Amino acid sequence: MNVLVTGGAGYIGSHTVRALLAQGHEVTVLDNLSRGHRDAVPAEAALCIADIRNVELVQRLLTERRIEGILHFAAHSCVGESMENPTVYYDNNVVGSWSLLEAGRRAAVPYFVFSSTAAVYGETDITPITEDVPYKPINVYGQTKLMIECMLKQFERAYGLKYAALRYFNAAGAMPDGSCGEDHEPETHLIPLILQTALGLRDHISIYGTNYPTADGTCIRDYIHVVDLADAHCRVLQYLADGGKLRAFNLGSQRGFSVREMIEAARKVTGREFTVIEASRRPGDPAVLVASSERIREATRWQPQYSDPETIMIHALRWYETHPRGYEDR
Ligand code: UDP
Repeated sequence: MNVLVTGGAGYIGSHTVRALLAQGHEVTVLDNLSRGHRDAVPAEAALCIADIRNVELVQRLLTERRIEGILHFAAHSCVGESMENPTVYYDNNVVGSWSLLEAGRRAAVPYFVFSSTAAVYGETDITPITEDVPYKPINVYGQTKLMIECMLKQFERAYGLKYAALRYFNAAGAMPDGSCGEDHEPETHLIPLILQTALGLRDHISIYGTNYPTADGTCIRDYIHVVDLADAHCRVLQYLADGGKLRAFNLGSQRGFSVREMIEAARKVTGREFTVIEASRRPGDPAVLVASSERIREATRWQPQYSDPETIMIHALRWYETHPRGYEDR
């Protein structure tokens, strides 16, 4: 299939581009490189450096390249930033997605796979979280993703678009050979910060809260390997092409690990000791977030291969050892 990957120079997008290419798809990447990296895009994919908000340009690109499926990753995704500067998130995420949907409508693109997030559920005591848990996003980032899911529903109802929203839990890891990985500036995610500390690139890792109602007092999250996420996107695209009717899927491993357990996994994999500081809670962090991903497993036979803490750490470590300064193109 001819597919367009927006945000294909970003973390999850660039891994999905590789998975699509490996399956024989023709891939065009659309990225404005505001946060993505040119070097994350493999040579086998065509790269168009432009903004998704340029409806005319995107419509032309879709028509010229005879695109049948759009995988939409391009978005800002920092929770703290979304609260400090919401207008940027409404513009880039909501207006950007509307522009892309409109270009897709005009170019009659039939399939759309959307990068959504577990943040649409907000704080919940329900575990594991199924797709039917009520939506109560507690930050602007999660709100923008939910607004886009609403737009998708209306584009299907009115114009017949076939779409799926994939709600990621905690994306982690890197290509098994370390050739592609996570490069955010600034980095705020747990696993990159732990490994950068273990490698001596930072002097300590802080644990945000040790008095949560969990076995060891630290937050529990569902870490899902980015290569498993990429595989899920390919399967869902095929699912839509085969006439699949479900519209939202959780992507998680269905197993939760605490912050302390992840630190322990990093100690084991790196064989290094490093400084851990017990700090206060980070506002807005629920105690436990674990997915039920039964729905996508049943619908597409998706089965995560790499989503255990040690494998995630081994692959991410390979990336940081070979790319201590990331893609170095900023
Ligand atoms: N966390 C932490 N120290 C850090 C960064 C994160 O203890 O320096 C915790 C955070 O409170 C959360 C978990 O690690 O419980 C995962 O956080 P991350 O930012 O990686 O992802 P999020 O769950 O916010 O999407």
